[in-house]
Amino acid sequence: MEIRRIGVVGAGTMGNGIAHVFARSGYEVILCDVERWFLDRALETISKNLEREVAKNKITLNDKAAALNRIKPVLQREELRNCDFVVEAATEKFDIKAEIFRDLDRICRPDVTLASNTSSISITRLAALTKRPEKVIGMHFFNPVPVMKLVEVIRGLATSQETFAAVRELALKLEKTPVEVNDAPGFVSNRVLMPLLNEAMYAVMENVATPEAVDEVFKLGMAHPMGPLTLADFIGLDVCLDIMRVLQDGFGDPKYRPCPLLIKMVDAGWLGRKTGRGFYKY
Ligand code: NAD
Repeated sequence: MEIRRIGVVGAGTMGNGIAHVFARSGYEVILCDVERWFLDRALETISKNLEREVAKNKITLNDKAAALNRIKPVLQREELRNCDFVVEAATEKFDIKAEIFRDLDRICRPDVTLASNTSSISITRLAALTKRPEKVIGMHFFNPVPVMKLVEVIRGLATSQETFAAVRELALKLEKTPVEVNDAPGFVSNRVLMPLLNEAMYAVMENVATPEAVDEVFKLGMAHPMGPLTLADFIGLDVCLDIMRVLQDGFGDPKYRPCPLLIKMVDAGWLGRKTGRGFYKY
């Protein structure tokens, strides 16, 4: 079956980026969220980001207009019924995603693959809620989606080879690089990254070094473009804590214990860049 029309559920940071790259690559996109305001904001962001690509001569003004024309914002999930492929990029809460997957399973044709952009929720568990577990898969894009090359493609226990191959192909059509990963807490990206950020927080908590010093070590010594504490502030400290808890629950290994300083900062509402205060002040 040829994939032409893509459904994207959730029009936040990731959903708008995912809609952007599919539309830029010539796919029709139905972008679904729960409030008109989120959809308007997403279209504004997509337009601004496409404009940047025009300024860099990556696309023409006509390409920009055509890509925007290919995106249809909708509030009713039923409008996804004619989609050939759906990516869910809604809020990272199991109950929200569970409801969406059950509903998509009812709405979409049985041959349609349902992908999740989750950073940490089990693909196997989401798949088991549907009547098509072999057609459920993780398609984990990275922020900012139009720029970052990686797509972590996560196979749930029941995901078929056919589904995997189709998603791999789709990622290549978006000019992304798919990397195959099996379902496990945090997949590869967050399983390795989050303990690094968490350990950097322990170093600050135990007065080994200031946040600035820790970040300098990683920028100058390891050629990271951004130090771990700057990165944690960028991701959101609440998101970091949630992911550490997924790792802790999933593996039951004390090495994934969230740093007490991280917990305290989240309790204080210091969530990083988005609240103006984290390891740094913004
Ligand atoms: P976000 O908060 O920016 O956007 C989430 C959107 O989902 C919101 O617009 C919200 O209104 C919408 N939504 C919530 N419930 C919905 C429903 N029932 N139906 C339709 N839309 C609904 O979040 P985000 O950062 O874009 O994250 C989305 C997903 O992508 C999460 O699973 C997250 O773990 C994952 N992710 C995020 C990043 C990142 O850096 N932000 C990176 C990789 C993966």
